[in-house]
Amino acid sequence: MKKNNARLELSKEEMKSYGYQIVDAIVEHHATQDQKLPVALGSREEMDSLFLEEAPEQGSDPSQVLHFVLDKVMTNSTNMAHPRSFSFVPGPSNYVSVMADTLATGYNIFSGGWAASPSAAELEIVTIQWLLKIFGFPKKKGGGIFTSGGSMANLTAVVTARRIKCGDDFSKAVIYLSDQAHSSNIKAIRVLGFKKEQIRIIPTDNELKFSVNKLKNCIAKDRLEGLYPFCLMATAGTTNTGTVDPLVELGKISKKEDIWFHIDGAYGGAAILSQKGKHAMKGIEKADSLTVDPHKWFFQPYEMGCLLVRNHKNLSHTFTEKPEYLRDIEGNTSEINFYDHGIQLTRRFRALKFYMSLKTFGLKEFRDAITYNIDLAEEVESMLRGSKSWEVVFPATLAVINFRYNPINKKYSEKELDKINQYISEKVVESRKALLVTTILNGQIVLRMCLINPRTTMKDITDTFDLCKKYALEIEEELASKV
Ligand SMILES: *Cc1c(COP(=O)(O)O)cnc(C)c1O
Repeated sequence: MKKNNARLELSKEEMKSYGYQIVDAIVEHHATQDQKLPVALGSREEMDSLFLEEAPEQGSDPSQVLHFVLDKVMTNSTNMAHPRSFSFVPGPSNYVSVMADTLATGYNIFSGGWAASPSAAELEIVTIQWLLKIFGFPKKKGGGIFTSGGSMANLTAVVTARRIKCGDDFSKAVIYLSDQAHSSNIKAIRVLGFKKEQIRIIPTDNELKFSVNKLKNCIAKDRLEGLYPFCLMATAGTTNTGTVDPLVELGKISKKEDIWFHIDGAYGGAAILSQKGKHAMKGIEKADSLTVDPHKWFFQPYEMGCLLVRNHKNLSHTFTEKPEYLRDIEGNTSEINFYDHGIQLTRRFRALKFYMSLKTFGLKEFRDAITYNIDLAEEVESMLRGSKSWEVVFPATLAVINFRYNPINKKYSEKELDKINQYISEKVVESRKALLVTTILNGQIVLRMCLINPRTTMKDITDTFDLCKKYALEIEEELASKV
């Protein structure tokens, strides 16, 4: 037989030099990223002209490929960890977790079953227990699983809720969420094949919270129609405004009505580590399931989401299938096979980064970072309240603040204000100096800052407002010239 030379290997020396180059690049990036521009812009044509080619039949020099990637790929991505990335939910990340991810990938650890990697399964159990304690879930009975992100955690939650509450027949099942729920909630529901008629989107009240009264009405009417209310999805920290739904009341309704109570805390959940956040999260411990997203405000690099459940058996009852080829590795029930607790079989070792970063920095440093973020947003709010140019549209809530340019000495129409604020956002992004996009609140176009990066300073913020002001004056002039 012919010797196989295709082993996809580098020599030991080549591996070292290749790896050191990558570590050097990552360290350099971490040391200098705050001084660079956060925003990358590129059209399909531009990206095609850089990268589009046929798969090469012959390989090339590893360093050459690496340098091309560092030069062209890494530079053409917006940096969500940048202190002036204010939009969506930023991903501040941290270097220890970055290296942990590198280790997990380097050893290619299979984090599906106990037998393959007892230590990986144990670290997932341990870190999930840390989270259970943080959120006040029962430590012994509770459980959970790490997922790729909040969307998958929400999907896992709805699958579980449906299995436990409806069994096989969900033809009459109805699910409730608010109009401020994250799009991944409705996406999960639709993925699972629920019809439009089975989904109740309840309007929020003036403060953008789940309206308890409307929910009660809706559940009662559905029961009268012979339908089966089975799941309520609340949000602890909406993405738009950071608003926390009335969790205590919603928990009571769920209990009384025997409905699965899911809370989506993908964005806001981590706030519980701070004093102010803890107060806002009251009632979160009553959820049957809770989504948190460590790759947001727990400072982990992508991808890492998490679903916590009040009763871990609900996960195993939902996701355990017994194919013959997994028979030999079952083990006992304390030795958890995470493939029995969620959708994935083969899974990367996500727990490692959470474990290593928490061990390295300690919970206190996480608490301090989150407290800093919440205080910073409040400071921005007072700054805006004291300004003649800016209007606070929605107050600082869990490090999110919504505002718009609306000078007191001018009387712009709503339409003009929309135009001005849209313009400011577009120009700021175009300048690449800050990522600051708009959202819509009560029909108004507003600017939104999500301040969960502990490296963001007040100067980053005032610089950005100076920039906004410059573009505001620009569009004001244009509007004036048209009169
Ligand atoms: C970000 C977010 C999600 C989705 O999480 P991904 O990690 O992006 O999949 C779900 N819910 C809320 C409230 C979010 O902020």
